[in-house]
Amino acid sequence: MSESVRSARVVIIGSGAAGLTAALYAGRAELAPVVISGVPAGGQLIITTEVENFPGFPEGIQGPELIDRMRRQAARFGAEFVDDNVTRVDFSGRPFRVETGSQGVFEADAVIIATGANARWLDLPSEKRLQGHGVSACATCDGFFFKGKALAVVGGGDTAMEEALFLTNFATHVTIVHRRNALRASPIMQQRARENPKISFLLDSEVVEVLGRETVEGVRVRNHRTGAVSDLAVGGLFVAIGHVPATEVFRGALELESAGYLRVHDHTRTSVEGVFAAGDVQDHRYRQAVTAAGTGCAAAIDAERWLAEHPPARSVVARAT
Ligand code: NDP
Repeated sequence: MSESVRSARVVIIGSGAAGLTAALYAGRAELAPVVISGVPAGGQLIITTEVENFPGFPEGIQGPELIDRMRRQAARFGAEFVDDNVTRVDFSGRPFRVETGSQGVFEADAVIIATGANARWLDLPSEKRLQGHGVSACATCDGFFFKGKALAVVGGGDTAMEEALFLTNFATHVTIVHRRNALRASPIMQQRARENPKISFLLDSEVVEVLGRETVEGVRVRNHRTGAVSDLAVGGLFVAIGHVPATEVFRGALELESAGYLRVHDHTRTSVEGVFAAGDVQDHRYRQAVTAAGTGCAAAIDAERWLAEHPPARSVVARAT
């Protein structure tokens, strides 16, 4: 069977807040971007309920609606969407080559990667069922909804300490549940958490079930040392056991940091000239929809300027081989 090959000025990989903002800016710069959306499309916001911290929505907005609006806004300026996953890339020379699962191959003069990072979960059925109903992986996003409640945070790293400290602004009490006896977090973060009177620790312990029918009412915890199982009454569970950047397909093609995030310099430039990165795939620090959108904008502007300085040798045509 012949392989379909299409050419584009800019291919954007990913369709969360970063990819869609890059698409909007690239579209308005008349670059006719092709967005390989990923399946499922829409990034982390698609699994978020109420978003109250995206500027411009004083009453808040549902995550999927925000993504739908961003997508329609980008389409209005000429972005084309291909609902598929990228299976292989070749960035060894221009045009860059991006292969999809079933929608053929795209050749691009510039590429913007915005594949995001996924929160790591405990993989419990009850955790999945109550996601967005008391189970969260982002205290900055959701902490406000838990005013006056007792909460649990799972994890022993810096993120878990930071999430727990932030949550004490709203919660009556926060219990950090960690699977080992020693925390992984940096000494300063551990100290801050230990000194906070609203925080206590359940060490050597694992959450084995999230309790509650409609919303979280507690967590069932097993102590590794004693084998004892007990229930902790909490109104919310924050899972803070790390993130996994979606960079597997770029391994070998681009430089990655030790935790697997794309290494960038000058804000959005990857190790290959003409390939840019935006959003959580290159940012393990802020991980917010608005910062992802911000770097998406920056990547599109950087790509546009780079393209102006490095025009392709060939004309852009659609073809099938
Ligand atoms: P880390 O990988 O540092 O920590 C993850 C934690 O989750 C570990 O304690 C780990 O346990 C635990 N864990 C992993 N998988 C499971 C599981 N299946 N069940 C239960 N527990 C699990 O990730 P972080 O997100 O905390 O941090 C990522 C990076 O970002 C780090 O380099 C960190 O220093 C940095 N960071 C810095 C901050 C700051 O300086 N303010 C704030 C936030 C992050 P175990 O220890 O047993 O492996």
